[in-house]
Amino acid sequence: MIEVTLLGTGSPIPDANRAGPSTLVRAGGQTFLVDCGRGVQQRMTAAGAGANGLTALLLTHLHSDHIADLGDIIISRWVTTFTPEQPPFPIIGPPGTAEVVDATLKAFGFDIGYRIAHHDDLKTPPPLEVHEYTEGVVWDRDGVTITAAPTDHRPVAPTIGFRVEHAGASVVLAGDTVPCESLDKLAAGAGALVHTVIRKDLIDAMPMQRIRDICDYHSSVEEAAATATRAGVGILILTHYVPAIEPGQEDQWRALAATAFDRQIELGDDLHRVEVHPGVGAQPG
Ligand SMILES: [Zn+2]
Ligand SMILES: [Zn+2]
Repeated sequence: MIEVTLLGTGSPIPDANRAGPSTLVRAGGQTFLVDCGRGVQQRMTAAGAGANGLTALLLTHLHSDHIADLGDIIISRWVTTFTPEQPPFPIIGPPGTAEVVDATLKAFGFDIGYRIAHHDDLKTPPPLEVHEYTEGVVWDRDGVTITAAPTDHRPVAPTIGFRVEHAGASVVLAGDTVPCESLDKLAAGAGALVHTVIRKDLIDAMPMQRIRDICDYHSSVEEAAATATRAGVGILILTHYVPAIEPGQEDQWRALAATAFDRQIELGDDLHRVEVHPGVGAQPG
């Protein structure tokens, strides 16, 4: 079984009730954080996870809303890991990730210096290992395999989605993307597809062109649902709601998805949790 928890279902738009984009994936005793938007650690705490317990951080792309709390994750993990030899923290993302991580360490350089000076048992900066990928197997350890494939969020590039597999169960995390062949392939027959969505019908009606611009590099609810159908996934999990789902509007969003996908649809508030069991999916539409 793979457990998916939507930690943050928000977007770049600050929201009192929704943290920024991030998803927790637990599989085979390993815990993966996918993206780390604003407020992620408050939600992780509520989900019973801590930065020091993460197996790896996976980044779909380097948009600010998806990496807003990267520094908080890195520093918190470092100062709350109490084993004498801290193992390096794996951070897996598209090309550019190493540069972002280096710049983050630099931004927190004073803090890191203060803590090393203050605590005898902290002798080095946060140990990290950054791996950049555009496709292929990015993780294969203790029964959990993770594969990456390119998505299409241009002009943001490169961007990647991930497929997590464990003991016959599989979950694909699309990140921000328009429909594309490579995501269809990555998601083929998966148990669940976690997809970010925007309501193009609502956004297109906004007066600000800068807001309307976001329609051209995101999937609408219906487009994400059509991707799920083409790929034959078992469960469609929607997140990153733009605009935020208002209380009582869940059914309207679900009905839009149901116009293009007739299997299980999951959406909701932060901390919404979905169990994905083996054997779900594998029904190409
Ligand atoms: Zn994005
Ligand atoms: Zn985004």
